[in-house]
Amino acid sequence: MARGLRVTTASRYPSAMPSYKSPRGTRDLLPETRAGFSRLEGIARSLAARYGYREMEIPLFEQAAVFERGIGAATDVVEKELFRIAPRTEDSEAWALRPEATAGIVRAFVQHGMHTWPQPVKLTVVGPMFRYDRPQAGRYRQFWQWDAEAIGDAGPAVDAEVIEMGRRFYVEAGVPDVQVLLNSIGDSACRPAYLATLKAYFADHSAELPELELRRLELNPLRLLDSKDPSMKALIATAPKISDHLCEACEVHFEAVKAHLDAMGVPYRLEPTLVRGLDYYARTSFEFYRQGAEGQQQALGGGGRYDGLVELLGGRATPAIGFALGLDRVLLALAEVGADAAVEVPPLAVVAGADPADTVSRLRVAALLRAEGLSVRVELAPRKLSRQLETASKEHAHFAVIIGDELAEGNVQLKDLEAGTQRLVPLVDLARELARAAKSHRHG
Ligand code: AMP
Repeated sequence: MARGLRVTTASRYPSAMPSYKSPRGTRDLLPETRAGFSRLEGIARSLAARYGYREMEIPLFEQAAVFERGIGAATDVVEKELFRIAPRTEDSEAWALRPEATAGIVRAFVQHGMHTWPQPVKLTVVGPMFRYDRPQAGRYRQFWQWDAEAIGDAGPAVDAEVIEMGRRFYVEAGVPDVQVLLNSIGDSACRPAYLATLKAYFADHSAELPELELRRLELNPLRLLDSKDPSMKALIATAPKISDHLCEACEVHFEAVKAHLDAMGVPYRLEPTLVRGLDYYARTSFEFYRQGAEGQQQALGGGGRYDGLVELLGGRATPAIGFALGLDRVLLALAEVGADAAVEVPPLAVVAGADPADTVSRLRVAALLRAEGLSVRVELAPRKLSRQLETASKEHAHFAVIIGDELAEGNVQLKDLEAGTQRLVPLVDLARELARAAKSHRHG
C-alpha cells in the first residue's frame, strides 16, 4: 500500500517507463514478415482446397489431458515443452496451449461425431502452436504450422497423396531441394517384437548410454533412435532396423505407398531410423528436410499415420494420417537461399490535392474508389502538392489522382506516375479507368 502511494509523477513519463519486450522465444511478425507468412498460408489454403481438405479452427488451448493422452506423457512435447496455463481457481480444469494441431483436431472429430460424415474426413488448420522449448535459431515458443489430417482412410494411397501434397507445398513456396525421408514403423502386430529386440540391443550397450537415454530405454526405447546426443550416433547406426521386422501386412502397405509415390514421380529417401516414439503411430512415417540439412535436427515438416489416436481420445477405432509443416522454418529457408518471401504490393493510386487543407474532397474521392474495391492511399497531411506527389512516386504508386478546381465540374486530374503523363478524367469514370489500369498493371 505505502509503496503505491509513493509513485512519483516522473514514473508516468516515458523516460521512467520499463521497456517491455515480446516474451522470450516469441516474435512480432512485422509487416514484411507477416506478408511472407500470408503468402505461405495462401499456398497452404490453396493446396488444401485442391486436395479436398476443409479448413477448420480448434481452440488455441485445450484440456491438458488431450495432449497428455493424445501426444503421450513420456514425450518431450508434453513432458518438457507443454505450455500449461495456471488454473484461475482451485477446481478449474488444467489447460495447456496447443503444441500441435493433431490432438485437437482428433478431439473435435470425436466430439462432433465426424465418424458419421462421409469418410475420410479431410481437415486442415493453419495457425500458431506453442512449445516451452529452449529458443534457438528455427525453434520458437510460438511458431506457425500448416496441419492437414485425413481421418478414416487406412491407406496406402492416401498416405502417398498426403506426402505428395506436403512436397508440393515446398515446391510452390520456392524452397529448393526439399527431400522426403520415409519409413514404416510397423503396427501393433509387429512393433512389440521389434521393440523387444531394440530394447535388448540397447540394454546390451547400457554401459555406453548417457543418463537420459537410460531413462528412455525404460520408458520408450524407440525414442533412443531419435536421440540428439552425438555419442549415440554409432550405436544407432548399428541398431536393429524396424524395416527388417515388419509383418507382412505392414510390408505390403509400405511397398504400396512407395509404388504410389513412384507413380507420381515423388522422390524420397528411405530412412530406417525415422521413428515416432508414440504407440498410436503406425506404418507410414515421413519428414521433409532441406537436402544437406538432415543432421541439424531442423525438419521443415513431418507426419505419419496414427491409426490408434481416435480411439485413444474416446472415439471408435479409425485409421488416419496427417502432417504438420512449420512455416517459420520455410521463411528461414527462403531467406537462406536469398529468395523473396513475399512482395508487398504498392497502392494503385494516391489521392492528392492542390489545396493542402482540403482533406474533405480527398477523403471523399478515396472513399469512392475504395468502395469500388481499389487500393488507394489518401494524402491526409496538409502538405504542398509537389511533396505529396514525391511521396507517391517513392512508394511506387502507379497513379496520382489530383484534386483541384476541376472538381467543381466533376473532374479530377489522373497522373500516370510511371509514364509522367496527365489527363482530365470525369469523377464518374475514375474508378472504371483505374480498375482497367489495375488489371493491366497488376496493382492494388
Ligand atoms: P513436429 O510436430 O515436432 O513434428 O513439428 C512439425 C514441424 O513444426 C517441424 O518440422 C518444424 O518445422 C515445426 N516446428 C516444431 N517445433 C517448432 C518450434 N519450436 N519452432 C519452430 N518450428 C517448429
